Amino acid sequence: MRGLLSFYRGLYTLSNRQARRKAGIVGSRCGLCGTPSTSKPQPGFGLLFDIDGVLVRGRLPIPAAKKAFEKLVDSQGQFVVPVVFVTNAGNCLRQTKADQLSHILGVPITQDQVIMSHSPLRMFKKFHDKCVLVSGQGPVLEIAKNLGFKNVMSIDMLRESYPLLDMVDHNRRPKLPSNPIVTLSKVEAVILFGEPVRWETNLQLIIDILLTNGNLSSVHQTQKMPHLPLLACNMDLMWMAEAHSPRFGHGTFLVCLENIYKKITGKDLKYEALMGKPSELTYHFAEYLIRSQAMQRQWKLPITTLYAIGDNLMTDIYGANLYNRYLEERAARKNPKAVAQMVAATGSTAAVPREEEMDSLWESELALPSATSCKSVLVCTGVYNPNAEVPSDANRCIKETVFHGHRDFRFDPALVEPGHIVQDVLEAVDLIFEQEKFVPQ
Ligand SMILES: [Mg+2]
Repeated sequence: MRGLLSFYRGLYTLSNRQARRKAGIVGSRCGLCGTPSTSKPQPGFGLLFDIDGVLVRGRLPIPAAKKAFEKLVDSQGQFVVPVVFVTNAGNCLRQTKADQLSHILGVPITQDQVIMSHSPLRMFKKFHDKCVLVSGQGPVLEIAKNLGFKNVMSIDMLRESYPLLDMVDHNRRPKLPSNPIVTLSKVEAVILFGEPVRWETNLQLIIDILLTNGNLSSVHQTQKMPHLPLLACNMDLMWMAEAHSPRFGHGTFLVCLENIYKKITGKDLKYEALMGKPSELTYHFAEYLIRSQAMQRQWKLPITTLYAIGDNLMTDIYGANLYNRYLEERAARKNPKAVAQMVAATGSTAAVPREEEMDSLWESELALPSATSCKSVLVCTGVYNPNAEVPSDANRCIKETVFHGHRDFRFDPALVEPGHIVQDVLEAVDLIFEQEKFVPQ
């Protein structure tokens, strides 16, 4: 934990300076390493912003976003509250996304304020020295190396070494008889970053890797269980681009993979981890970065409340509420009175979260959260349409036909209920400042 914190501290200080330069902020005072000003109000809350549909639409900034961010920085371009950006996008480096945001919002954003769907992989250190196969598009090898993975293999590398395995596209089949070029290491884990370009190639080779336990020279062993560890980022079934109707997202690719695996083996595909919104893992990482920012700025108050601002009920609101539930349960474990109330209400101890549940990966890596609640704020500038016709039985309709969440996430109507609904991100910031009685100077 200490190592990770000091690693981030170094990165944060360096990249903050770079970001300030890029955004054209003048002045040499470094708020992270400078003396804290005791006269300025210190925040006890932090903000998590979704990007698409909240700050931008396609390539265009949403007008309210720039105004909102003018309120979030002081005259020297320093944030007056801890801020992170949480996006399910995953096909670029965090620095690239930070640069885009700095340009769009006109304020300096560092890469340590950006959480992509793959960012929590940084915590999975037990895989960093293993040979991992990565699937997705864009600079996936570079992204994996940037996250700490030292021995990375791409689907194309597998294809080149085993040219007879990719046979769907007749034009890509080898023209001449060929033998496998067996120079590759045995794959020890698979990481799914995002939807690939050639779905049939990736589906085939990932299934091959799972059924051969990482060694493509072997034949399929459908009884071999458990399969290699599988880590997946971004579960969005669909997403909105410029087209009128939603497009396939990585969640759709996962549906294909899960169903092919089940059809062939009769068993469920199991994930070592699923990350990206609405996964708790992503929010835990966001909370950690918020906490780190407050520490860097030498703000004394613990950050106890998080506000997550987004436009999508199924990812932003569900994720924020799910994390809030985790924080509440965690508080209940520490409060005997609340435990007694829970037992009285349910008539059993089954509903009381067990102590060993605390012993999870993120808590050991990131230390305990200081946040005790996470509030969801829905904006109307993106996917959510307040004027859409509401079905007469909304819960039943969503449950049976519209729930696009991942197989491993249960639908729960309470989790898609936003804490607040506002027009846009400017209204969201105004509302939060009012609720927190926070007046920046
Ligand atoms: Mg969005």
